[in-house]
Amino acid sequence: MFSTTKFSTQESHNCCTPQPKGKVECPSCHQKAKGVLGKTFDALVKEEIKAKFDCFDGFYYCKTPSCKTVYFRDTTILTQEDMSIVVGLKEGVSPATVCYCFEWSKEKIKAELEATGETTALEDIKAKMENSGCSCEILNPSGGCCLGDVTKAIKEIKSAL
Ligand SMILES: [Zn+2]
Repeated sequence: MFSTTKFSTQESHNCCTPQPKGKVECPSCHQKAKGVLGKTFDALVKEEIKAKFDCFDGFYYCKTPSCKTVYFRDTTILTQEDMSIVVGLKEGVSPATVCYCFEWSKEKIKAELEATGETTALEDIKAKMENSGCSCEILNPSGGCCLGDVTKAIKEIKSAL
């Protein structure tokens, strides 16, 4: 175990930017990727993988569905295998979770659309966000709000039906 004292005395650790600013190109698919907080990485990456790093800050999240890379930092690349959760936005995974806080997946949205022609996903998520709040920072691999991804998923599923 590392002590917190060890971290605070290593101020020159150049990987330790709490959340990387701006967007950086994914080394695998060359699409722009957004930075994630160290606590997002800490919550979602497998223990044995985390043991390889001194510091969890400075990683970027690739959301390209066809790209195998989930998190990257410099030459380090982490894929689904290194994650403790299923990254729902990547191609061919099940469940294809889009909202990690309130458990909405593409499968669930599709089933609702097939049954009723509509989906309550957005209303449900918005209502619950106001009520109990969300924990995207530690549940969603992007570290951010899922509403954009949910809206996009609904459109995709509707046009495919
Ligand atoms: Zn990528």
